[in-house]
Amino acid sequence: MTTLVFLEHHDRSLTKASLGVLSKAATLGGDVAGVVVGSGVRDAAPQAGGFGAQRVFVWDDERVAPPLSQPRVDAIAHLVRDQGFENVLFGSSVLAADVAAGLSARLDAGLNWDLVDLASQDGELVGKRPALQDSVVVDVGWTATPRLALFRSGSFDPVEKGGEAELVDFEAELEDFSLAATMVEQAHAESEGPSIEDADVVVAGGRGLGEPSNFSLVEDLAAALGGAVAATRAVVDAGWYPYAAQVGQTGKTVSPKLYVAAGISGAIQHKVGMQGSNVIVAVNKDPNAPIFEYADLGVVGDVHAVLPKLTQLVRERRGS
Ligand SMILES: Cc1cc2nc3c(=O)[nH]c(=O)nc-3n(C[C@H](O)[C@H](O)[C@H](O)COP(=O)(O)OP(=O)(O)OC[C@H]3O[C@@H](n4cnc5c(N)ncnc54)[C@H](O)[C@@H]3O)c2cc1C
Repeated sequence: MTTLVFLEHHDRSLTKASLGVLSKAATLGGDVAGVVVGSGVRDAAPQAGGFGAQRVFVWDDERVAPPLSQPRVDAIAHLVRDQGFENVLFGSSVLAADVAAGLSARLDAGLNWDLVDLASQDGELVGKRPALQDSVVVDVGWTATPRLALFRSGSFDPVEKGGEAELVDFEAELEDFSLAATMVEQAHAESEGPSIEDADVVVAGGRGLGEPSNFSLVEDLAAALGGAVAATRAVVDAGWYPYAAQVGQTGKTVSPKLYVAAGISGAIQHKVGMQGSNVIVAVNKDPNAPIFEYADLGVVGDVHAVLPKLTQLVRERRGS
């Protein structure tokens, strides 16, 4: 089996999502390679060796510097045709979804998206995909190669096992239309600390906070725990917190070690974005709130009383 993993990068290091997918690919065996495309990316490529890539194909070129999809479709289509890769795997992101869809059209290849796992069963590759609002997981397959797969973010933790990858420089021919789109401006959300997708600890606030200014309770606890702040759709829609922090069906999927849900009812659409967390702690004044059905630890109480105490205890414990 030959597998190619699209390695996305930010600030010259490979993303957690792509390294997670690479780690998964390595467990399936066979020839596992990565591809990294951009400008100044050669320094980031060797990192993939530690996560199971035997080879990393590097296209380091100023022309492909902006994170646009079509040049990356050209690059991966070239490698699939040239090297005969049977599987091409992507960790979910806006760019990766765009590249995977473009590649599917370019190669007339089947793309299974929103997968949460992949297994080799009786010599066949089987994707695992949540369905019916994530209440069941179904098996999906491909009828031909190359098989394309896009994984939900947080599906796999990167597992560093050590090892070195051979770096292979390559260049693909760019289609006429591939540079037609240009990057006018790239903006980064100003944030301190880890992103909610990368953080080991996420503290999330919901409508139970009562008003936007009470998000400071959530922010204080997150700061004390060294974590990131998330929110429900209800508070994002109400303009209490930015959309970038929304967790759930129409927001981000997170899988931290600890997820603290403060004043959150635990609706199914929120659950699907955080149910992969290792430990879920819920603070809610309603003992019948749905979140208590799947929380590991529950505190029945008022967030305005519980959160400041929790923050104080964490600070004392950490001596700050
Ligand atoms: C198509 C679709 C997509 C959706 N996508 C998402 C999504 O991506 N993410 C998402 O989060 N939601 C999503 N939703 C919305 C979802 O159904 C819920 O409405 C939403 O998650 C509720 O947010 P909440 O828990 O903050 O508010 P509520 O449901 O209003 O819950 C507030 C909770 O706070 C508790 N509370 C109140 N006061 C206090 C207090 N002082 N102390 C402690 N607890 C208190 C209450 O008991 C209650 O349980 C989606 C809905 C649809 C239809």
